[in-house]
Order: sequence, then C-alpha cells, then structure tokens
Amino acid sequence: MHFYCEKCKKEYPLNSISYHCSCGGLFRLYKNNTDPITPEVSIGEIETPLIPIKFGKQEFFFKMENLNPTGSFKARGAKTMISILKNLGIKHIIEDSSGNAASAIAAYAAAANMKCTAYVPENIAEGKLKQIETFGAQIRLVIGNRDTAAKTAQKEATKSKTYYASHVYNPLFFEGIKSLAYEIYHQLNDHVPEYIFLPVGNGTMLLGLYYGFEEIGRLPKFIAVQSENCCPLYNAFKKKRKGSKVGYTIADSIRVEKPMRLKEMLMAITRSNGEVLTVDDEEIIEAQHQVGRKGIYIEPTAAASVAGALKYFKKGKPDNYRVIIPITGAGINTSSNKD
Ligand SMILES: [Zn+2]
Repeated sequence: MHFYCEKCKKEYPLNSISYHCSCGGLFRLYKNNTDPITPEVSIGEIETPLIPIKFGKQEFFFKMENLNPTGSFKARGAKTMISILKNLGIKHIIEDSSGNAASAIAAYAAAANMKCTAYVPENIAEGKLKQIETFGAQIRLVIGNRDTAAKTAQKEATKSKTYYASHVYNPLFFEGIKSLAYEIYHQLNDHVPEYIFLPVGNGTMLLGLYYGFEEIGRLPKFIAVQSENCCPLYNAFKKKRKGSKVGYTIADSIRVEKPMRLKEMLMAITRSNGEVLTVDDEEIIEAQHQVGRKGIYIEPTAAASVAGALKYFKKGKPDNYRVIIPITGAGINTSSNKD
C-alpha cells in the first residue's frame, strides 16, 4: 500500500509527513495486497443494524451508524487509519474537525496508546468537546471556523514534523468507511440498494461508500443532501455561479464551505447517476422530530438526509426501491453552537 498523487501520480509512503503532493494534488490510496491489518485497534465495533422505518406508506432503511463506538460512522475511518498508523509505528498524530471525526480519531488513538492533538474550532458543540477531552487528546481551540482549525493543524504538523491524521486528506480514513458499503450489501443479501441518501460536507461518507461499492461492482444512486445555507456541492453540480451565500445551519457536520475533495465528490455523484439537493433548517428539525417519534434520537446532520429523502419522494416511491439512509451520528452529543 502507498499513497499517490491524484494529479501527477508521484508516490508517497503511508508514513509520509507530507499530507498532499508537492504539486498540490491530493493523495489517493494504492492497495497492492488485501492482507488484513494486524493488530487491529478495537473498541467494540459491531455490524450496525439496518432497520426498516415507515413514514406514512413509504419505507426507508435506516443504517444505524449512530451505534458505532464513538456515536458516528467516523469510527470506521478512524479504526482503519489508526490501526495502520499504529502498525507503522507512529506515536503522535495531529488532527482537526468540528466534532465527530475528531472524537473518533481521538478515541482510537487512545486505544492505540497514541498521543493525539486535536485542533477544533471555537464554536464546537460542547458535548463533542467533552468527548474528545475525555479520550485524553490535547485540545487546541482555534479562533475562527473549521477551515481555520484545519489550516492551523496543518501548519503545526508541518512545523513539528508530526503525522497529520486528517479525515479529509488521509485516504486511509476513506478506506475504513468502505466497510459501510460492504455491510449494507451483505445485509441486503448481496444486493446493491437503488438509492442511498446521505448528508455531504467534506464527503467522507460519500467517497467511502463510492469506493466501497465500486469494489463490489455496482453503484447505488447517491443522493447528496446539503443545507440550503451551505451547499458547495449543490452549486457545483447544478453549475450555479460561485459566491452563493454561505450561512449557518444546525447541521454542523455539513457546514463545510470549501470541501477539498469537491471534484472527487462530483465524480461520485455523476458516475452513480445521482443527484444533489438542499434542505433548510426547518425541514431538518422537522425530520429530526419525525424520527424522534419513532424512538430514535439523531443528530441534525443525519436528519438532513431524512428530510432530503422525504422531499425527493414526496409524490411517492416505488415499493421495490430499497432506499438506505445512513444515520450518520447520535443526537446525544450535539448541542450545536452558532458561528
Ligand atoms: Zn502531484
């Protein structure tokens, strides 16, 4: 296994201190074997349940990613990335995030006995901050938004020659998310679903699922859901002019103004014959409450894709369409703060 540049194809080892190519291109992962990663860092992962949920006459399948060890699907990426880094002998990592990724990486780093420094934006939800702190990560609160937090982390990692274990830059993280595609496939008795609705910010889940289903051999239609107030993928997909408004959304995990892997995300949507749509905060809150009435408490970001699916199939859905909605994260740790 090694990294290579998506632009100039230059190769880099997995333990490279560089987190992108000297030409500016992002890393992709080349796998030259399918050997299992041992030893694997584990904190009690399960195959998350896939359960049918009915809204009126329409049935969707919820993939309960909120039941992952750290309360979100990001545990999958963190598990694979940290396991590989531990095997490479890496002892200290730097990371950044607005919450779910940071806490997942901090948790697995703790389990791997690895030192972790987390750069988080000052507006991080309090519950998430507490989680990260409890895992023993050194917290660096950055004044500014998550982009500022990421830039600060990158600068510090370069300066101190510390490994930058980013859930956006590091392809090992996406490699871990692929297991979500395989689980859905097996739980549908070796069938690829017709649709997957998913919230998209940095595109971690979208790209992980895309590469997973690509390996399986067939793609579902990916319907990316973004907030009306922050929708760079929507704008790019619909070829809207740049400079559209960027504002607050309650769905904090998809409040990403400039996703690094936008081109790759567009490719995933286009190749899957998918679609991008937007929802507003009112629709997100309404969906969160509707799901709550089923006894499930989900984070606003997860509710965004439920809102998207309800909107998309407003006029009905053919019964034979299997529509999957990954519940990205639990509601418990989200008391989102305003920017
Ligand atoms: Zn390059």
